[in-house]
Amino acid sequence: MYSSLPKEFIASIGGVKGFDAAAFEAVHASGGQVVSVRLNPAKWSGAGMIWPGDETAAVRMEKVPWSSWGYYLNERPSFTFDPLLHAGAYYVQEASSMLLEQALRQTVDLCRPLRVLDLCAAPGGKSTLIQSLLTEDSLLVSNEVIRGRAGILQENIIKWGAAGAVVTNNDPRDLGRMENYFDVIVVDAPCSGSGLFRREPEAIEEWSPENVQLCCQRQQRILADIWPALRKGGILIYSTCSYSVEEDEEILDWMMDALQAGSCRLMTDPAWNIVESQSAGGGYGYRCYPDKLKGEGFFIAAVQKNEGDAFSYPRQKKQGLEKLSRSQAEEMRPWIEEGKELFFFRHEGLVRAAPARIAEDIAYLQSSCYLKKAGVLMGEQGGKEFIPEHELALSVIAGRQLPALELSRQEAIEYLRKEEIRAEQGRKGWTLVRYQGQNLGWVKILPNRVNNYYPKEWRILKRMP
Ligand code: SAM
Repeated sequence: MYSSLPKEFIASIGGVKGFDAAAFEAVHASGGQVVSVRLNPAKWSGAGMIWPGDETAAVRMEKVPWSSWGYYLNERPSFTFDPLLHAGAYYVQEASSMLLEQALRQTVDLCRPLRVLDLCAAPGGKSTLIQSLLTEDSLLVSNEVIRGRAGILQENIIKWGAAGAVVTNNDPRDLGRMENYFDVIVVDAPCSGSGLFRREPEAIEEWSPENVQLCCQRQQRILADIWPALRKGGILIYSTCSYSVEEDEEILDWMMDALQAGSCRLMTDPAWNIVESQSAGGGYGYRCYPDKLKGEGFFIAAVQKNEGDAFSYPRQKKQGLEKLSRSQAEEMRPWIEEGKELFFFRHEGLVRAAPARIAEDIAYLQSSCYLKKAGVLMGEQGGKEFIPEHELALSVIAGRQLPALELSRQEAIEYLRKEEIRAEQGRKGWTLVRYQGQNLGWVKILPNRVNNYYPKEWRILKRMP
């Protein structure tokens, strides 16, 4: 239920650039909702104007103008019962936050391999976007400090499927000790959340000027803690879903003042209706208002670091990884796509694969922070056979040549519920199950039955509507 916006809130952003109180209040009172998704270019190119998961063909797609892979849907389909969501073919993401793509494209050379940190990453919307922009041999560290939220982050990163993905569960201060290491750091900061008032009316009740103050102190602390980990010339992108100047332009000024950061100006198409604001100290920020564009409230700014020393890997940390021998690595080849330059290593007893170029980075990260996931979990040697992991099935390195079973939508939903699956006579052994050509996971076909290996903790529990 919509409750009217707090007077104190309206007064606090009264003079802010682009704020139009009447239009802003009207769009909040209207109850209108915007639904948007972002496709995974490493897996799926989408279909066209009609949303493929919708059998009634009533759901139409319309491009999000500032995003390469973002689409608005005119209705909310049942995402839970769309197997393509579970296959990591797309992510349901608020459209304004896709502006991160512009900030990255315009400030970073994305053609070369990079080390990127997404510091406040759960549930993984920004991380999956960043991943789609990076080269295959880049490293993306997605970090979440709150342990209870790191699990959903890990699940979404696994579904997205990139091999160079690392998930960590650390305090920003711990990661800040990796001095001069990252080329890019994204801080999508915890904030007072006014930008989500339309989508989550509960946030209206929780808003208070005291909370804005607490949030801006925490934002400064997070930025101060992580700043040492950015290399000289590196880019930090800061964003919030708050309209409060204290959490947006004033934080930008603080970075320019206390951290000596240089502000980067971005180009936006006037047709997008994104508002460029200037902070008191001359920094550039970009504001999204729901009465001006199809999306929620969002603020983004990019800064560059002007000083720092060159990074070199600490000598003693190079030996940290247990790499597979050449012959053991050869045994992994039948499971993976041809032409991928990977290295294989053992972590907590299980075999993992990651781009060969980031071997040293994984060793360094392993010695510096708590890794929840590094590269792609391949599986384990169990007696005579190799038992593949779910992560391998969902990764972009899984071999297209592997035996596979294409399922109908109904069968795919049964598989995702971890129910029994039928297979044609004659097949046997480890087999991928697919829906519209997208891997959903593994089954093992035995002479008299088919074992469903979908992870129990991920299965669909909800009843079909
Ligand atoms: N980037 C995410 C996405 O696009 O899906 C959303 C991130 S949300 C705006 C902010 C995140 O910061 C939350 O996951 C929250 O748990 C985390 N967080 C809360 N307190 C933090 C702190 N002190 N340091 C770092 N992260 C924190």
